[in-house]
Amino acid sequence: VIALSQEKKSEPACAICGTTHSRELYTAQDRLRNSAQAFVIAECPGCSVVRTLPALSSEELATYYPQDYWAESDEPSIDWIKSSQREKTDFLTSCGLMEGRILDVGCGAGFFLRALDPNKWERWGVEPGRNAASAATRAIGEDRLSCGDLLGASFESAKFDVVTLWSSLEHTSDPPAEVREVRRILKPGGTLIVQVPNIASYQARIFRGDWFALDAPRHRYHFSETTLKRVLVESALQPYRVTFRSRSHNSHSLRQSLKTRLLKIRPRAAGKGVFLLTIPFIKPCDSLLSLFSTGATITLAARAC
Ligand SMILES: [Zn+2]
Repeated sequence: VIALSQEKKSEPACAICGTTHSRELYTAQDRLRNSAQAFVIAECPGCSVVRTLPALSSEELATYYPQDYWAESDEPSIDWIKSSQREKTDFLTSCGLMEGRILDVGCGAGFFLRALDPNKWERWGVEPGRNAASAATRAIGEDRLSCGDLLGASFESAKFDVVTLWSSLEHTSDPPAEVREVRRILKPGGTLIVQVPNIASYQARIFRGDWFALDAPRHRYHFSETTLKRVLVESALQPYRVTFRSRSHNSHSLRQSLKTRLLKIRPRAAGKGVFLLTIPFIKPCDSLLSLFSTGATITLAARAC
Protein backbone atom coordinates (compact mmCIF):
# COMPACT_ATOMS: atom_id res chain seq x y z
CA VAL A 1 0.00 0.00 0.00
CA ILE A 2 1.41 3.35 -1.02
CA ALA A 3 1.04 5.91 1.72
CA LEU A 4 0.65 9.27 0.03
CA SER A 5 1.94 12.13 2.09
CA GLN A 6 -1.00 13.79 3.82
CA GLU A 7 1.05 16.86 4.58
CA LYS A 8 0.07 19.82 2.42
CA LYS A 9 3.19 21.92 2.06
CA SER A 10 3.18 25.06 -0.01
CA GLU A 11 5.55 24.40 -2.88
CA PRO A 12 8.38 26.76 -3.72
CA ALA A 13 8.05 28.45 -7.10
CA CYS A 14 9.56 26.84 -10.21
CA ALA A 15 13.22 27.89 -10.25
CA ILE A 16 13.13 28.36 -14.02
CA CYS A 17 9.99 30.47 -14.62
CA GLY A 18 8.61 31.32 -11.15
CA THR A 19 5.23 29.60 -11.59
CA THR A 20 3.86 28.65 -8.16
CA HIS A 21 1.56 25.77 -9.10
CA SER A 22 2.11 22.51 -10.96
CA ARG A 23 0.26 19.69 -12.73
CA GLU A 24 0.71 16.17 -11.37
CA LEU A 25 1.79 13.61 -14.01
CA TYR A 26 2.30 10.48 -11.89
CA THR A 27 3.93 9.34 -8.66
CA ALA A 28 7.22 7.58 -8.00
CA GLN A 29 8.87 5.90 -5.04
CA ASP A 30 12.53 5.89 -4.06
CA ARG A 31 14.07 2.92 -5.90
CA LEU A 32 16.59 2.60 -3.05
CA ARG A 33 13.66 2.29 -0.61
CA ASN A 34 14.84 4.77 2.00
CA SER A 35 11.15 5.47 2.61
CA ALA A 36 7.76 4.29 1.34
CA GLN A 37 6.72 7.84 0.49
CA ALA A 38 5.20 8.42 -2.93
CA PHE A 39 6.70 11.49 -4.56
CA VAL A 40 4.68 13.49 -7.05
CA ILE A 41 6.26 14.01 -10.47
CA ALA A 42 4.73 17.24 -11.73
CA GLU A 43 5.00 19.44 -14.78
CA CYS A 44 5.34 23.21 -14.52
CA PRO A 45 2.55 24.82 -16.61
CA GLY A 46 4.79 27.86 -17.18
CA CYS A 47 7.90 26.29 -18.71
CA SER A 48 7.16 22.51 -18.95
CA VAL A 49 10.05 21.51 -16.70
CA VAL A 50 9.22 18.46 -14.60
CA ARG A 51 9.87 18.43 -10.85
CA THR A 52 9.83 16.02 -7.93
CA LEU A 53 7.48 17.21 -5.18
CA PRO A 54 7.37 17.88 -2.31
CA ALA A 55 10.58 19.87 -2.67
CA LEU A 56 12.74 18.44 0.13
CA SER A 57 15.31 20.54 1.95
CA SER A 58 18.97 19.56 1.57
CA GLU A 59 18.88 18.18 5.14
CA GLU A 60 15.81 16.02 4.38
CA LEU A 61 17.30 14.85 1.11
CA ALA A 62 20.64 13.92 2.72
CA THR A 63 18.96 10.88 4.31
CA TYR A 64 18.15 9.59 0.79
CA TYR A 65 21.79 9.32 -0.23
CA PRO A 66 23.55 6.12 0.78
CA GLN A 67 27.00 6.60 2.33
CA ASP A 68 28.69 5.09 -0.71
CA TYR A 69 26.76 7.07 -3.35
CA TRP A 70 29.24 7.44 -6.23
CA ALA A 71 32.18 6.34 -4.09
CA GLU A 72 33.92 2.99 -4.44
CA SER A 73 35.40 1.23 -1.44
CA ASP A 74 38.21 -0.38 -3.45
CA GLU A 75 40.47 1.74 -5.64
CA PRO A 76 40.00 0.59 -9.25
CA SER A 77 42.89 0.47 -11.74
CA ILE A 78 43.57 3.43 -14.04
CA ASP A 79 42.76 1.22 -17.04
CA TRP A 80 39.33 0.40 -15.60
CA ILE A 81 38.73 4.10 -14.85
CA LYS A 82 39.73 5.17 -18.37
CA SER A 83 37.51 2.56 -19.97
CA SER A 84 34.53 3.39 -17.72
CA GLN A 85 34.91 7.11 -18.52
CA ARG A 86 35.55 6.66 -22.27
CA GLU A 87 32.14 7.95 -23.31
CA LYS A 88 32.69 11.21 -21.41
CA THR A 89 36.27 11.75 -22.55
CA ASP A 90 35.22 10.96 -26.14
CA PHE A 91 32.48 13.61 -25.92
CA LEU A 92 35.05 16.13 -24.69
CA THR A 93 37.30 15.29 -27.65
CA SER A 94 34.38 15.47 -30.10
CA CYS A 95 33.82 19.06 -28.93
CA GLY A 96 37.44 19.86 -29.84
CA LEU A 97 38.41 20.24 -26.17
CA MET A 98 41.97 18.95 -25.77
CA GLU A 99 43.52 20.81 -22.83
CA GLY A 100 43.06 23.55 -20.25
CA ARG A 101 41.70 24.10 -16.76
CA ILE A 102 38.67 21.89 -16.12
CA LEU A 103 36.21 21.69 -13.21
CA ASP A 104 33.97 18.67 -12.65
CA VAL A 105 30.96 19.57 -10.49
CA GLY A 106 29.64 16.60 -8.52
CA CYS A 107 32.86 14.76 -9.36
CA GLY A 108 32.22 11.80 -7.03
CA ALA A 109 35.44 9.88 -6.44
CA GLY A 110 36.98 11.81 -9.35
CA PHE A 111 36.88 9.05 -11.97
CA PHE A 112 36.23 11.40 -14.89
CA LEU A 113 39.05 13.72 -13.78
CA ARG A 114 41.41 10.78 -13.27
CA ALA A 115 40.70 9.61 -16.83
CA LEU A 116 42.04 12.92 -18.20
CA ASP A 117 45.72 13.39 -19.05
CA PRO A 118 47.17 15.47 -16.15
CA ASN A 119 49.79 16.86 -18.54
CA LYS A 120 47.06 18.44 -20.67
CA TRP A 121 44.38 19.19 -18.11
CA GLU A 122 44.59 21.12 -14.82
CA ARG A 123 41.93 19.15 -12.96
CA TRP A 124 39.54 20.60 -10.32
CA GLY A 125 36.54 19.05 -8.59
CA VAL A 126 33.54 19.88 -6.38
CA GLU A 127 31.77 17.08 -4.51
CA PRO A 128 29.30 17.21 -1.60
CA GLY A 129 29.62 13.55 -0.52
CA ARG A 130 32.39 13.32 2.09
CA ASN A 131 33.60 9.78 1.28
CA ALA A 132 33.61 10.42 -2.45
CA ALA A 133 35.33 13.78 -1.96
CA SER A 134 38.15 12.26 0.06
CA ALA A 135 38.68 9.60 -2.63
CA ALA A 136 38.85 12.37 -5.25
CA THR A 137 41.25 14.37 -3.06
CA ARG A 138 43.67 11.45 -2.95
CA ALA A 139 43.66 11.39 -6.75
CA ILE A 140 43.82 15.07 -7.76
CA GLY A 141 45.16 16.81 -4.62
CA GLU A 142 43.60 18.58 -1.67
CA ASP A 143 43.98 22.10 -3.09
CA ARG A 144 42.03 21.12 -6.23
CA LEU A 145 38.98 19.61 -4.51
CA SER A 146 36.19 21.53 -2.81
CA CYS A 147 33.92 19.44 -0.56
CA GLY A 148 30.43 20.95 -0.73
CA ASP A 149 28.32 22.53 -3.46
CA LEU A 150 29.38 24.73 -6.38
CA LEU A 151 28.05 28.01 -4.98
CA GLY A 152 29.88 27.41 -1.70
CA ALA A 153 33.19 26.85 -3.51
CA SER A 154 33.37 30.57 -4.52
CA PHE A 155 35.77 30.19 -7.42
CA GLU A 156 37.10 33.37 -8.99
CA SER A 157 35.37 34.60 -12.17
CA ALA A 158 36.52 33.38 -15.61
CA LYS A 159 38.79 30.72 -14.06
CA PHE A 160 37.91 27.64 -16.15
CA ASP A 161 38.11 26.58 -19.80
CA VAL A 162 35.64 23.73 -19.25
CA VAL A 163 33.06 22.95 -16.55
CA THR A 164 31.34 19.57 -16.56
CA LEU A 165 28.09 18.58 -14.84
CA TRP A 166 27.80 14.81 -15.33
CA SER A 167 24.51 13.62 -13.78
CA SER A 168 24.61 16.53 -11.37
CA LEU A 169 22.29 19.40 -12.44
CA GLU A 170 19.14 17.31 -11.84
CA HIS A 171 20.13 16.98 -8.16
CA THR A 172 20.17 20.72 -7.43
CA SER A 173 17.28 22.69 -5.92
CA ASP A 174 17.93 25.70 -8.19
CA PRO A 175 19.36 24.65 -11.57
CA PRO A 176 19.34 28.20 -13.07
CA ALA A 177 21.42 29.49 -10.12
CA GLU A 178 23.86 26.61 -10.64
CA VAL A 179 24.17 27.39 -14.36
CA ARG A 180 24.61 31.14 -13.71
CA GLU A 181 27.49 30.27 -11.38
CA VAL A 182 29.02 28.03 -14.06
CA ARG A 183 28.76 30.90 -16.55
CA ARG A 184 30.47 33.26 -14.07
CA ILE A 185 33.46 30.98 -13.51
CA LEU A 186 33.85 30.05 -17.21
CA LYS A 187 36.23 32.03 -19.37
CA PRO A 188 34.54 33.77 -22.34
CA GLY A 189 34.42 31.13 -25.07
CA GLY A 190 34.70 28.37 -22.46
CA THR A 191 32.46 25.31 -22.54
CA LEU A 192 29.88 23.84 -20.19
CA ILE A 193 29.19 20.14 -20.69
CA VAL A 194 26.02 18.93 -19.01
CA GLN A 195 24.53 15.44 -18.93
CA VAL A 196 21.04 14.76 -17.52
CA PRO A 197 18.34 12.08 -17.94
CA ASN A 198 15.90 12.96 -20.73
CA ILE A 199 12.32 13.29 -19.43
CA ALA A 200 11.08 13.56 -23.06
CA SER A 201 12.63 10.18 -23.98
CA TYR A 202 10.63 7.11 -24.97
CA GLN A 203 11.80 5.44 -21.73
CA ALA A 204 10.39 8.21 -19.53
CA ARG A 205 7.09 8.17 -21.47
CA ILE A 206 6.68 4.40 -21.24
CA PHE A 207 7.88 3.76 -17.69
CA ARG A 208 6.74 6.99 -15.97
CA GLY A 209 7.12 6.40 -12.20
CA ASP A 210 9.02 3.14 -12.85
CA TRP A 211 11.67 4.84 -15.00
CA PHE A 212 15.07 4.07 -13.47
CA ALA A 213 16.61 7.44 -14.36
CA LEU A 214 13.80 9.34 -12.61
CA ASP A 215 15.61 8.54 -9.34
CA ALA A 216 13.14 10.41 -7.12
CA PRO A 217 13.60 12.12 -4.75
CA ARG A 218 17.33 12.60 -5.44
CA HIS A 219 16.55 14.06 -8.87
CA ARG A 220 14.63 17.27 -8.18
CA TYR A 221 14.36 18.69 -11.73
CA HIS A 222 13.77 16.53 -14.82
CA PHE A 223 14.81 18.14 -18.12
CA SER A 224 13.96 17.79 -21.79
CA GLU A 225 16.23 19.22 -24.48
CA THR A 226 13.91 22.26 -24.63
CA THR A 227 13.89 23.06 -20.91
CA LEU A 228 17.62 22.40 -20.54
CA LYS A 229 18.48 24.69 -23.46
CA ARG A 230 16.25 27.42 -22.01
CA VAL A 231 18.19 27.38 -18.73
CA LEU A 232 21.52 27.54 -20.57
CA VAL A 233 20.55 30.27 -23.03
CA GLU A 234 19.15 32.44 -20.23
CA SER A 235 22.63 32.35 -18.69
CA ALA A 236 24.34 33.34 -21.99
CA LEU A 237 25.49 29.80 -22.76
CA GLN A 238 24.99 28.86 -26.40
CA PRO A 239 24.38 25.12 -27.04
CA TYR A 240 26.50 23.80 -29.92
CA ARG A 241 26.48 20.02 -29.61
CA VAL A 242 23.90 17.55 -28.30
CA THR A 243 23.46 13.78 -28.27
CA PHE A 244 20.78 11.49 -26.83
CA ARG A 245 22.84 8.33 -27.13
CA SER A 246 24.70 6.89 -24.16
CA ARG A 247 26.25 3.44 -24.12
CA SER A 248 26.79 3.62 -20.38
CA HIS A 249 23.33 4.85 -19.35
CA ASN A 250 20.54 4.06 -21.81
CA SER A 251 20.36 0.28 -22.05
CA HIS A 252 21.12 -0.06 -18.33
CA SER A 253 18.25 2.27 -17.57
CA LEU A 254 15.93 0.33 -19.93
CA ARG A 255 16.84 -2.97 -18.26
CA GLN A 256 16.29 -1.66 -14.72
CA SER A 257 13.02 0.08 -15.66
CA LEU A 258 11.72 -3.09 -17.31
CA LYS A 259 12.62 -5.09 -14.21
CA THR A 260 10.77 -2.67 -11.91
CA ARG A 261 7.71 -2.66 -14.18
CA LEU A 262 7.57 -6.44 -14.65
CA LEU A 263 7.98 -7.17 -10.96
CA LYS A 264 5.11 -4.78 -10.30
CA ILE A 265 2.62 -6.23 -12.79
CA ARG A 266 3.52 -9.95 -12.45
CA PRO A 267 3.84 -12.22 -9.44
CA ARG A 268 7.47 -12.05 -8.28
CA ALA A 269 8.75 -15.35 -9.74
CA ALA A 270 7.02 -14.89 -13.09
CA GLY A 271 8.23 -11.31 -13.29
CA LYS A 272 11.83 -12.40 -12.81
CA GLY A 273 11.49 -15.11 -15.49
CA VAL A 274 10.13 -12.69 -18.06
CA PHE A 275 12.88 -10.25 -17.18
CA LEU A 276 15.62 -12.85 -17.80
CA LEU A 277 14.15 -13.55 -21.26
CA THR A 278 14.41 -9.91 -22.25
CA ILE A 279 18.12 -9.44 -21.47
CA PRO A 280 19.60 -10.27 -24.93
CA PHE A 281 17.16 -7.87 -26.58
CA ILE A 282 17.78 -4.86 -24.37
CA LYS A 283 20.48 -3.09 -26.40
CA PRO A 284 18.91 -3.56 -29.87
CA CYS A 285 15.53 -2.62 -28.38
CA ASP A 286 16.91 0.61 -26.96
CA SER A 287 18.64 1.52 -30.25
CA LEU A 288 15.48 0.82 -32.23
CA LEU A 289 13.11 2.74 -29.96
CA SER A 290 15.57 5.64 -29.80
CA LEU A 291 15.09 6.08 -33.57
CA PHE A 292 11.41 6.89 -33.07
CA SER A 293 11.76 9.09 -30.03
CA THR A 294 14.82 10.44 -28.24
CA GLY A 295 17.26 8.43 -26.13
CA ALA A 296 17.19 8.41 -22.34
CA THR A 297 20.19 10.70 -21.76
CA ILE A 298 20.92 14.25 -22.90
CA THR A 299 24.58 15.23 -23.23
CA LEU A 300 25.01 18.84 -24.28
CA ALA A 301 27.89 21.24 -24.83
CA ALA A 302 27.33 25.01 -24.62
CA ARG A 303 29.73 27.89 -25.14
CA ALA A 304 30.00 30.90 -22.86
CA CYS A 305 29.22 33.91 -25.04
ZN1 LIG B 1 8.50 26.62 -14.71
